Amino acid sequence: MDEQNPVVLLSGNKWHIVEDSRRSETAVCGQRIQDRRAHTRLSNVGLTQVCRQCARLWQNQQER
Ligand SMILES: [Zn+2]
Repeated sequence: MDEQNPVVLLSGNKWHIVEDSRRSETAVCGQRIQDRRAHTRLSNVGLTQVCRQCARLWQNQQER
């Protein structure tokens, strides 16, 4: 995983951060990615566009 710029997947109308890659089945927040509409990197969408739980968990990881 790219620590600074993880992969994000679009599921429904929300971007979710995934720990592994675009093939991940579960987002960082625990939601299963069922409707995989697109993938990109976090820097391309911005943290404000990401699901709030994913964003918070990811930010917590960065502070360790
Ligand atoms: Zn999420």
